[in-house]
Amino acid sequence: MKAQGVLLEERRNFIHHKGSCGGNTIQCDTESVSGAVSQRACVYCGARVVLNPITDAFHIVHGPIGCASYTWDIRGSLSSGAEWYRNSFSTDLTEQDVIFGGEKRLWEALEEVARAHAPKVIFVYATCIVGVIGDDVRAVCKKAEEKFGIRVIPVMAPGFAGHKAIGYRMACNAIMELISKAPAGRKRRKGVNILGDFNLAGEMWIIKNYLEEMGIEVVSKITGDASCDELMHAPEASLNIVQCAGSMTYLAKRMEEDMGIPYIKVSFFGLEDTAQSLLNIAQALGDGEAESRAHLLIARETHELKDLIQKSKEALSGKRAAIYVGGGFKAISLIKQFREIGMETVVVGTQTGKKEDYDIIHLLVNEGTVVLDDANPAELEHFIKEKQAHILVGGVKERPLAYKLGVAFLDHNHERRHPLAGFVGIKNFIKEINLSVNSPVWQYVR
Ligand code: SF4
Repeated sequence: MKAQGVLLEERRNFIHHKGSCGGNTIQCDTESVSGAVSQRACVYCGARVVLNPITDAFHIVHGPIGCASYTWDIRGSLSSGAEWYRNSFSTDLTEQDVIFGGEKRLWEALEEVARAHAPKVIFVYATCIVGVIGDDVRAVCKKAEEKFGIRVIPVMAPGFAGHKAIGYRMACNAIMELISKAPAGRKRRKGVNILGDFNLAGEMWIIKNYLEEMGIEVVSKITGDASCDELMHAPEASLNIVQCAGSMTYLAKRMEEDMGIPYIKVSFFGLEDTAQSLLNIAQALGDGEAESRAHLLIARETHELKDLIQKSKEALSGKRAAIYVGGGFKAISLIKQFREIGMETVVVGTQTGKKEDYDIIHLLVNEGTVVLDDANPAELEHFIKEKQAHILVGGVKERPLAYKLGVAFLDHNHERRHPLAGFVGIKNFIKEINLSVNSPVWQYVR
């Protein structure tokens, strides 16, 4: 592709038009190009998004108050128990701490939290300024752990140390640090851990119900609606099922190496992927009974959705979608999901997709589809216009872009309040796409 107008020459290899010959040649899984405005969040944000749904953990942000804005329902992750995770605690570093060091403030914060609340675990996030001034956060956490007898786990996540995916890895290491100290428990033959579902709008509960209907026990949830006690049972599971592969494949690999728990990747977005994932779980466990039950469950739910899908095809046939999401698994499911309702994906990109994700995307999309890695707003705008997309699927940072272009928008990120996973999520997805794409408002703003 030749760089055109607003597009940076250095970004050329991160943008791929599916052509009539050749395979996927996209560059991905690397640092953002300097000067390009990446849609990726910082390292701290990546770590926090994974660890935050541990509902009874305390999250102390060691840095200036701004980093602690991640608080009180900024994400739609729900809890069936504790509510502490909805808060951010900050050491609120100021100029004086930057000059003389912030370790004392961190110690005071840990002491206050430990004495007032005695939580089971505290995660301490070292953000940008701490990375610059060089506080010995690990030493303070170690001392607090010994003195107060609770787990105090440092997450060294200065925002400038890379991008969001580096934060995912740090969060996975923190989870390993927590669960690797678990006392040995009995192995659960039909037990699974769900990795990479953050219980947005209760989606974890939907998946858990399906698995329980199949006779499969959910041992621990990493991390949606998780508690410290439950996480300590994670090593007892026989299988890890990984939904958000971008954030959790690393943890799954570590658990496989250290604890001998195999893993499979799943996705509960869209009819095809939801059904296939349920069957794959039963097969991976070698559980014929669970597989039979999965077939019954899928037949029942598919039958219920039949008319809705047929009607949506009539209403949406020929419409075009642009997708820009965090990880590859979601982009892959969304392409299939749009196809299920008669829509074509004309632009698709991710913030942190891997080569294997883009290989699948390349196979799924039609000729001429634009595939982008780590896109910036100018590129998204350019290709949404060029391909005349009717709707953009993305997160909070993409929403204003769509509306400014006079294009419908579907929020598929952590801020939303309605489930899009499982069979019930398919109903919500279709309803929202139909209402948004076919809204009469677009004829006045385009
Ligand atoms: S980039 Fe740095 S200062 Fe900004 S939120 Fe992330 S850690 Fe905090």
